[in-house]
Amino acid sequence: MLVDGHGRKVNYLRVSVTERCNFRCQYCMPEKPFSWVPKENLLSFEDLFLFIKVAIDEGVDKIRITGGEPLLRKDLAKFIKMIHEYKSGLDLALTTNAFLLKECAADLKDAGLARINISLDSLKPEIAAKVAQKDVLKKVMQGIDAALHVGLKVKINTVPLKGINDGELIDLLEFAKNKGMQIRFIEYMENTHAKQLLLGLKSHEIKDNIAQKYAFQEVARESNSPAQMYELADGYRFGIIDPHKHDFCEDCNRIRLTAEGMLIPCLYFDEAMSIKDAVQKGDVQGASAILKEVLQNKPEKNRWSNDAQNETSQRAFYQTGG
Ligand code: SAM
Ligand code: SF4
Repeated sequence: MLVDGHGRKVNYLRVSVTERCNFRCQYCMPEKPFSWVPKENLLSFEDLFLFIKVAIDEGVDKIRITGGEPLLRKDLAKFIKMIHEYKSGLDLALTTNAFLLKECAADLKDAGLARINISLDSLKPEIAAKVAQKDVLKKVMQGIDAALHVGLKVKINTVPLKGINDGELIDLLEFAKNKGMQIRFIEYMENTHAKQLLLGLKSHEIKDNIAQKYAFQEVARESNSPAQMYELADGYRFGIIDPHKHDFCEDCNRIRLTAEGMLIPCLYFDEAMSIKDAVQKGDVQGASAILKEVLQNKPEKNRWSNDAQNETSQRAFYQTGG
């Protein structure tokens, strides 16, 4: 079992397999082309897998593959299969924008993927295109249908933005509900890479919005989950992730690995350690020692909610995987 320096059990590893993306979501990436980390700096799947095996052997039992856009990485299904076959019963999930999902949903399911989170910010093609800065909706919808068709459990992630998609939150909730998917509204987290002057809806505004049509009640937060859950009268549950109000630090169980091999103890902390040399040398003990050092130094509270409330984070979501 992995325990951090503050006595918290850590069993959840989020792995970003690329920082690159085929979207330019206003809340996540700069619009203009910028210089990506050169491909040769990315860890190979074999190198990432070496570290993942170390983490699993030490007690990690939940892994989420993310990015950037993870489906841009060739042979992702093979990578998922490697992880799935290493340990049965592992909770293995993926977060994607779904643009390329139609083509690979069946392969991902066959590889052992059980759950998938899909970002969907609008049901209107022009609004989806405004958010992603690209015409995306048709392919995203095809991706969602393909995932459901092959039997993946799907959750929808939506970032409510003022004056952009805030008129559609009920429609998005109903869309998710009708397809048997949970929807989670994520408060926009201000960061230096996002479009300037972008304003997100806070948790209470999201609730007021949904309350225009539906009555709902708060239900207990699942342990280690950042989402506060709410239940409609018919039992359908939706979530709100509200980092402006809750810091989730008390029972934080997660660490993050970037595609370049930086092991990040906390999303809102700049400190990180590289596992690159260790894994490229095949040094299992070295990788394990870095994992334990990072855990020992995992901060008790994230800096953002602690002393920089509502400030703008420097860390890019497309690098850390959110
Ligand atoms: N490209 C994939 C996707 O969009 O689902 C995976 C990576 S993306 C960084 C992971 C999640 O982070 C998405 O659900 C996205 O909506 C969320 N996200 C990105 N930037 C955000 C921000 N500034 N505030 C809140 N959520 C954000
Ligand atoms: Fe790409 Fe996901 Fe960021 Fe959108 S949120 S730009 S899809 S990484």
